[in-house]
Parts: sequence; structure tokens; C-alpha cells
Amino acid sequence: MEIKKTKLQKYLLPLALILIAVGIGVAVLLAVSGSGRERDVNVSDAVSADYPLRVDFVDVGQGDGILIRCGDSVIVIDGGEPDVGGPFVSYLKNVGVSTVSCYIASHPHVDHIGAAAAVFAAFDVQSMWTTAFSELNTPTVSAYEDLLTAAANEPGCEVRFVAAGEEYDIGELHLQIFAPVTESTNHNDMSIVVRLTYGDVSFLFTGDTEAGSEQAMLDAGFSLRSDVLKVAHHGSSSSTTEAFLSAVDPAAAVISCGTGNAYGHPHREVLQRLEDAGISIYRTDTDGSVILFSDGKDLFVRRMVR
Ligand SMILES: [Zn+2]
Ligand SMILES: [Zn+2]
Repeated sequence: MEIKKTKLQKYLLPLALILIAVGIGVAVLLAVSGSGRERDVNVSDAVSADYPLRVDFVDVGQGDGILIRCGDSVIVIDGGEPDVGGPFVSYLKNVGVSTVSCYIASHPHVDHIGAAAAVFAAFDVQSMWTTAFSELNTPTVSAYEDLLTAAANEPGCEVRFVAAGEEYDIGELHLQIFAPVTESTNHNDMSIVVRLTYGDVSFLFTGDTEAGSEQAMLDAGFSLRSDVLKVAHHGSSSSTTEAFLSAVDPAAAVISCGTGNAYGHPHREVLQRLEDAGISIYRTDTDGSVILFSDGKDLFVRRMVR
């Protein structure tokens, strides 16, 4: 699977302001920028699994483990704690994964990359994305060292330190990196935030990004609007600010967290913000693994209730 890096996207906000200034209609602006909700995406129960794009938010307990598939393109984001490495790998095998085009390590916390070594041991992994850290800010958790070692030892695996503003094509999937915009000693705010587009449908994967990084993305002027939001940091109130949520303006939100977790995730305030905005909420702690399918126009959901 070839991964193509496409040209850097110029920030759309300045362009938008100029267009308004010269009096070109809003409709033209929307057509150019792709921002704004030109139509509502339908989210309905899946009647079939026969849709080209499939995104599995795997129930890994308290953590994140995400599988994205479209044709030959297979992207895995995180995987959960080390002790769910086995079950996560089994899940991937059971749904037919053998090769991973791209493994994205959202950020160096063990509830995200703890299972990475198991993924590398089980599959042919063609590339790994992580974030660059300056020397003094380099993560010291052993899971991060294990991840880099596993990627270095994986034959033919390309390691890429991605940065905000970059764009890639993996098969028919378009990926835009929005964060981290700046370096932070809060490693949640070093989470890779990536928007995936397939046809007219888009997903925003946020890792554990918090309010500081959310504001940096807003300030950078990225077009954040996405149909599905992976709610950051397991629904913690340190994330998903009103300003960020209104910029993303999703139709559906997925929260990945463990039943009865010690952090009280998802926090009541975040659920309230999502409910007030009329967003459909899916949760791995109550719904089990949540699978979204798309034909590039609409979204179909299936809950694997335990
Ligand atoms: Zn974290
Ligand atoms: Zn986390």
C-alpha cells in the first residue's frame, strides 16, 4: 500500500475572509473550501456490512483501539493497554486483517500505545506515524520505547513523525493532520489529531487532545468540520470545549472508555454538551464495540453490545 503525501493545504480561513471581502457568495465559498454543512449526513442502523468504508471503535476497556478499513487500506490507531493487546489482535484477525498499511500512535500514553507491540508482532505493518518530541520532552514510558523498537525492527516499516498541516492519501482515504500545532509538556496535547475523508463523509480522530491543543487548532484556522467525532480523552471535561465542538459540528460522537472506570469518564458536562448539540452518542462502555460503515455519502452504525 503506497502512502502519498499531498501538498500542504493552505489555511482556508484567510481565503474565506478574502472571498467574503470581495463579495463572492457564500455558496461559492462552501464549494471551494468544503467547510460548512451543505447537507446532513444520515446516521442509521447498518442493514448490511457491505459498505466500502468500515471504522471499528473496538471495545478495549479504558483506552482507545480503532480500526479503519477501505479496500486494501488498513489503518490502526492505538490499541489500548498492554493487557488488551491479545484481545485487540484477536479482534483484528477475526475481521480479516493481515497487513496494516499504517499504524498511528496517537500519543505516548499506555492506554493508547500499550498494545502496539502486540500489533507489530501479529501483523505486517508497513508504516508507523508518531509525533516528534524535543529532547527534554521525550516520553519516558517504556511503552513508547517498545513502540519505536517494534517499528524499527519491523521489516520495511517506514516511521514518520507527522506534523500539523500535512496531508496524505492512503488508497481512497484522505488524511489531514491538524495537531499537535505546537509542542506541549502535556502529552495529551501532543496527540495526533487526524481528519479522515472518504467521499463526502469525514471522521475526526482526536486521541486524548485537551483544551489547549483544541484552541491551537482553532487558532490555526483548520477546517475541522467532521461528520463523526471520536470524543477526545474518553469524554473527559478537559477536552471537547464548546468552541471546538461547534467547529467540528458532528452528527455522531463516539466515546471510548471502560465500564466503571476510575476517572468517571465520560464526564457529565461533555455528555451534556453533546446532547445539547443534538449529536448521536455512541459509547464503548455501554454499546460494546461501535462500528461505522459508509458508502461515502451516508453513515451506518452497528453496536456490538456485549
Ligand atoms: Zn493520554
Ligand atoms: Zn487515554
